[in-house]
Order: sequence, then C-alpha cells, then structure tokens
Amino acid sequence: MSGGRWHEHWTGQVVVDLDAIAANAALLVERAAPAAVMAVVKADAYGHGLVPVARAALAGGATWLGVAQLAEALALRAGGVDAPVLCWLWAPGQDVAAAVAAGVDLSASSADAVEVLADAARAAGRPVRLHLEAETGMGRGGATAAGWPDAVRAALRARADGTAELVGAWSHLARADEPGHPSLARQREAFERALEVAEDLGATFAVRHLANSAAVLTDPGLRYDLVRPGIALYGLSPGDGVGSSEQLGLRPAMSVRTRLALVKDVEAGQGVSYGHTYTTDRPTRLALVPLGYADGVPRAASGVGPVVVAGGRTTVAGRVCMDQFVVDLSGLPGAERAAAGDLVELFGDGALGAPTADDWARACGTIGYEVVARVSARLPRRYTGSAGAPATDDDQDTGQTTGHETSEQGGPGL
Ligand SMILES: *Cc1c(COP(=O)(O)O)cnc(C)c1O
Repeated sequence: MSGGRWHEHWTGQVVVDLDAIAANAALLVERAAPAAVMAVVKADAYGHGLVPVARAALAGGATWLGVAQLAEALALRAGGVDAPVLCWLWAPGQDVAAAVAAGVDLSASSADAVEVLADAARAAGRPVRLHLEAETGMGRGGATAAGWPDAVRAALRARADGTAELVGAWSHLARADEPGHPSLARQREAFERALEVAEDLGATFAVRHLANSAAVLTDPGLRYDLVRPGIALYGLSPGDGVGSSEQLGLRPAMSVRTRLALVKDVEAGQGVSYGHTYTTDRPTRLALVPLGYADGVPRAASGVGPVVVAGGRTTVAGRVCMDQFVVDLSGLPGAERAAAGDLVELFGDGALGAPTADDWARACGTIGYEVVARVSARLPRRYTGSAGAPATDDDQDTGQTTGHETSEQGGPGL
C-alpha cells in the first residue's frame, strides 16, 4: 500500500495483544498440569484471528489446538501450524478426506460417522486420527449410552483395517460455569462409564478430555489427560460463578477502537437515532461513533453499551445503527475539547478504565464469548506483542499480520 498506513483506510480496528494470549495460555497450562492444553481457536479464535492466536497459544505452552469446523482446521495447516488439531464438527458430504490428508484429528459421535471417516481415510491414503465423543449430559453432540458401544466397535474395526488411529475419547460439560453443580458429577460418572465400556470392548485412548475453561479453572477432578479451554485463553471470564477475569488472573486480549467521525452541538429536545429512544434534555454535545451492528456492535447495546471517550465513560445514546451510533458527551471531562478524530474505545483489557468485553456482555444481556466472536471481518485485526510471531516478521500494513506495537507516542495506535 503506497504511502499511508493501512489503518487510515479503516473505520475502526481490533487490536489483539498476543502476549496476553500467551500469558493466559501459560496460566492455563499451569492450572491444567499434568494434563495438556488444547487451545480452542474456533470461530477465528473467538474473533481474535486464527493463525496469530494459535501461534501465541502454542508459544504460551498449549500443545493442541481445537476447532469446530473443517475449514478452520485446514486454515491452520495452510498457515503453517503443524501442532495436533482436533476438529469436532462436520457433516457427511463435506470434504473430510482433505482434513484427514492434512493430518487433522476428527471426532465422531456414531458408528456411521466412524465409517464416513474410515472411507475418507481410504481416500486420503492415511489413517484418520479419531476422537470418539460420548453424550454425558450436554444433550448436544456425542453418542448416547445406547449408541456408544456400536461407535466403539466401528472404531475398533477401523483401527484393525488400518483406517483409524484411536486417539481420543471426549465429552463436553453443560454447566461447568456453575462450580459444584450436581450435573458435573453426573457428567463425570457418565464419562467414566463410557470409558469403561470402551475399555471392555478393547479400546484404549491416548487422551481423554472433558474440561472447558470453567472446568479447568475450578475442578481438578475434570482434567483427565487434556483440557480444552477457549474463553479463558482470550482473557475473559467463563461466567460470573467462576469469577471475573481480574480475579482469575486473566488478561483480556482484544480491544475495539475507532475515532469520532463528528462532534456537534444540538438543542434540548433533539431525538437521537432511529426511533428517538433517546432525547436530549438540554443543549447537548453529541459525538458520532462510526461503528454499528454490521461491525459486530450488538444492537442490544442501544442505550446501554459502555464507551470510553472524551476522557471518561458514557453509554451509547439511542439505537445502534448498522454503521454508527451516537454518544452524548455531557458531563465528560473532555467534552469541551472533543473533536472529530478523537479516539474512542468500546472495550479493552480494563486496566486503564476501559470497559471489558465482559462489561459489554453484562450491559447487553449476553456473554463475553458473543461480544468478541461477533466483531465482524469489517474491522481489521492488528496485533501487538510478539508471542508466536515469526522472528523476522516486521509489523506490516496488511492488518492481518503479527508483529510489534506500532502505536504513535505510546498511544492506543489507531
Ligand atoms: C467452545 C468449546 C470449548 C471451549 O469452551 P470455553 O467455555 O470457551 O472454554 C471446548 N470444547 C468444545 C467442544 C467447545 O465447543
């Protein structure tokens, strides 16, 4: 890009601190030991950027990666990541052979699914690395107790004919964010039973895995050989029952920033944005923030989303539109001096008084997971910190590269 920096062409940006990702991974590695850590990087690493985050998590000590979709697993391989990758969601008709060929571990929840994978292994010319998922109470994926023995037998047949390696047995917890909830003990018992049934049929697994972030952080009895944290890797809390990210020692890695597009003074009685759900009650200075629900700002943030601007904190005034929303600068310390071009932060690591993604979640009636995962591809991801970055990589103007902080005068660098 000749001349100007790439971010001059973008309305807002997502800044991801790779050192925070690595530090969170290291904390999880310590908490999980002796179990290994699979960093869950599905959904573009919860919106943070798949390959840079995967590398940072590995640099922090994670040894596995977990994704939901085949395309995500293949994107990791295409990005040169060769750590073990488990992909747990696919449907017949998709090109699972390509994933087998790329050495991606795949999950199956039924005998039929095992057979599809065995066929894919034949097509790929190498055995599939198979993880069997047991239903233990989540009521989502996984073979029920009735279907589990058949799934195990199918896996044993595939192992015998050289089309599968039995790598994992796993399940997923429904209520780990409610530490001590009786469903956790029930799920653990159901998992133990499934493992026993499999063993009685002659199956052994290199890794058994059950725990998500909440379980890793609260219950050593659920760790088994491998844990699958996602949200904690990004520095967010798995839920109020587990504690805030600050209490957990986690560092939120994502900040969403932009610059004011306009500042203007209006009279008392000015309705603001669609539906006029906000009306000024005195002569008021308003500012226009050029991000909207197409950028991932929840429409549910209308009237409630917290924003740092003009030296203080305020909330979205009126409705969030597709590309923009308005804030009322009344009472903010920097209101008098506020001008178009001023920096606005929607959320960040919380350390400097900015709201966190968890604050946004609370305001909008959702979870931090959704706040970060929904930030759209309209906003380029920019990386600070060096964890996992190739040693020779300079900060580049692509918006998708890893590298070092390039902020001007140590500011937030938009
Ligand atoms: C998303 C997901 C995880 C990670 O859950 P967190 O609550 O983000 O730690 C782990 N395992 C599976 C199967 C998942 O779908």
